[in-house]
Amino acid sequence: MGTLIDVRLEALAGRGAPAFSPELIAGAAIAACDTPTQSCRTRDPAAALDARTFYLETFGCQMNAHDSEKVAGFLLGRGYRQVETPGEAQLVLYNTCSIREKAAQKVFARLGDMKIMQGTGKWIGVLGCLAQQEGEEIFERAPWVSLVCGSASYRNLPGLLADLEGGNQRVAGLDTDTDETFETELTRRDNPVRGYVTIIEGCDKSCAYCVVPSTRGPERSRPSASVIEEVRQLADSGFTEIQFLGQTVNSYRDPSSRRMSFAELLAAAAGVAGIRRVRFTTSHPRDFGRDIVEAIDATPQLCEHVHLPVQSGSTRVLRAMRRTYTREEYLEIVAMLKSARRAISLTTDIIVGFPGETDADFEETLSLMDVVQYDGAFTFAFSPRPSTDALRLPGAVPEEEKTARLAILMQRQREIQQARNAALVGETFEVLTDGASRREGQWAGRTSSNRVVNFASAGPVLLGEYVPVRITKAGPNSLVGERVI
Ligand code: SAM
Ligand code: SF4
Repeated sequence: MGTLIDVRLEALAGRGAPAFSPELIAGAAIAACDTPTQSCRTRDPAAALDARTFYLETFGCQMNAHDSEKVAGFLLGRGYRQVETPGEAQLVLYNTCSIREKAAQKVFARLGDMKIMQGTGKWIGVLGCLAQQEGEEIFERAPWVSLVCGSASYRNLPGLLADLEGGNQRVAGLDTDTDETFETELTRRDNPVRGYVTIIEGCDKSCAYCVVPSTRGPERSRPSASVIEEVRQLADSGFTEIQFLGQTVNSYRDPSSRRMSFAELLAAAAGVAGIRRVRFTTSHPRDFGRDIVEAIDATPQLCEHVHLPVQSGSTRVLRAMRRTYTREEYLEIVAMLKSARRAISLTTDIIVGFPGETDADFEETLSLMDVVQYDGAFTFAFSPRPSTDALRLPGAVPEEEKTARLAILMQRQREIQQARNAALVGETFEVLTDGASRREGQWAGRTSSNRVVNFASAGPVLLGEYVPVRITKAGPNSLVGERVI
């Protein structure tokens, strides 16, 4: 990998000043223009555009947000300047998600808004999962689009952009048959306190409901030396917290002769001078070994948090989903995590209403939640997706039933979180400050266990500062506290 120069937003330059925008921390939306049509209408389409300007809006998961950081870095390195509205940009990019139907609909609505751009000479580009899923059909559906590129083809972006710059009207990068990862010389960093590092791309797991294996291509890991070099460069540019990313991050297999295991890679990152926190997401239960728990226990820099999606508490449904573990095997991993010396916080993803899910299966999911006592859960109603095997399964659960199950699940999880957070009142945690709280006069940050803490401080607080905070109040989704002097 070449030299990675990190461009961090002004929020970092303003360390100490709470000039912080939640959108920047989310790293995703950079959506300064929520209503592109309005801003476009207010501009004269014939007005000369700066030929090297881009607008980039991101939909979906953390992987997409980080891909956008890399795409933005690539464009900045090519002399492009980022602008805040599609109206100002020569190149308008949407990095898209198609994991659930709603996400895909949102993207198509945005593309519909862009029709007004037709004939203005702008290049509209669709990147990411929806681009891969729909392919060149996007050109038919939205003829004002000039570029379609899936994430497995981002390495071809230089050529695709050169084609556009050379006058080509329609260019596409849709090849998923690759063993390469997307490494950039320059990565624009949107989150001022957390540096993201992709260690593995794609997915080989083929869960029956999921588009990711077809939209992101096969699993391919980066050589450990390249990963550690990026961590070192992040530390040099002032980051103290990093997060390893991958759809199944713990399926990491070092392709270099070092053959570092995932747990060894975590420990090596934790050993980089200046790094105080190392996180990773998302873990797949099948590849979650004891060595990861041992590494967390042995290495204070490894955060006390594991996100371990279960999807369902019923072995019958897990089999139909092709998750490759049973309820009992999952619970064995949970027991291993709970037997750790450190209090490792555990969060998950759950899908309700998968085809064939009965009331009894759903009850098993609720009972698993009671047993595990998750600190957080992302819960979803099953959404049938194109080209997935779940489409062919009988026993579709009616939408009203999915909605009802989801509401029950969310309420149960809320109660669990409220009780678990209440037990933390009176304790003191080290909080990494990531900005101003929505509560006036307070700051916000996260504990090693990834809990959000809003806190008051008599003295000034710096962005990126580690602050000891005593917890005084607990809600289901966050904690409130005071800085300990
Ligand atoms: N790779 C991760 C894993 O294996 O858990 C997560 C990938 S996906 C981006 C995030 C979550 O979306 C999944 O864990 C699953 O709960 C949910 N999801 C994926 N496909 C879905 C679908 N068709 N309907 C509803 N939820 C879905
Ligand atoms: Fe999708 Fe399953 Fe791969 Fe996760 S492990 S990305 S849910 S196929």
